[in-house]
Amino acid sequence: MRQKLAAGNWKMNGTGAELTELKALSQIHPAASVDILIFPPATLLSRASIAVQGTAISVGGQNCHAAKSGAHTGDISADMLVDAGATSVILGHSERRVDHGEHDEDVRAKARAAMDAGLKAIICVGESLEQREAANTLDIIGGQMSGSIPDQSTGENLIVAYEPIWAIGTGKVPTLEEIGEVHDFMRARLERRFGEGVGRSVRLLYGGSVKPDNAADIFSVSNVDGALVGGASLKASDFSGIIQALE
Ligand code: PEP
Repeated sequence: MRQKLAAGNWKMNGTGAELTELKALSQIHPAASVDILIFPPATLLSRASIAVQGTAISVGGQNCHAAKSGAHTGDISADMLVDAGATSVILGHSERRVDHGEHDEDVRAKARAAMDAGLKAIICVGESLEQREAANTLDIIGGQMSGSIPDQSTGENLIVAYEPIWAIGTGKVPTLEEIGEVHDFMRARLERRFGEGVGRSVRLLYGGSVKPDNAADIFSVSNVDGALVGGASLKASDFSGIIQALE
């Protein structure tokens, strides 16, 4: 049985004052089958990791550099994330692919560095509205998976998040059939590439406008092991509703 996972991506939101939300969230006691990950901005990572010590929550980074160290002003290495208390890192989010021109090979190199450092990599894939309307969704997802996921992946160090770009922050959500089609496809791809054992153990998250009121329906879809949540992860009251829907 795969552990369920509720992952909250705070993006470029939050200063020290917002740690109160993390403290409020840490009061909940999720079922043993549910993991909770919060991805605060890098400036809060150390403080957040201290704030969640001894609770059910772990924290992670929103990005890392592919190199171990060096002349990369403004960047953060996977080892630095570990040092700050991270257990995982989001890679290949569409906002990084679009805003920072990250391609699959960049994501793959970062994922290798993250896994080498002992982090779990949450690798994001997803199609644009144009690509969906042109019936190219599965081709796009398959290509991103082949290009972004490193060979050293296992059920322990890899999580894949399906995040249709047109659903992120828009309030639009694919139908449950559409989510199911992509997640079944991703599972089959992983099994084909890594074998049934590893392929079946990798967790698959759905991301894109998940809210407390649609979470239970989304989690009922086969091969959806949890969610990567943006906006609704910023308030403990909203995010705890999503966690409860996973239980
Ligand atoms: C995201 O950015 O990963 C995301 C899913 O955002 P939202 O939940 O706000 O759509």
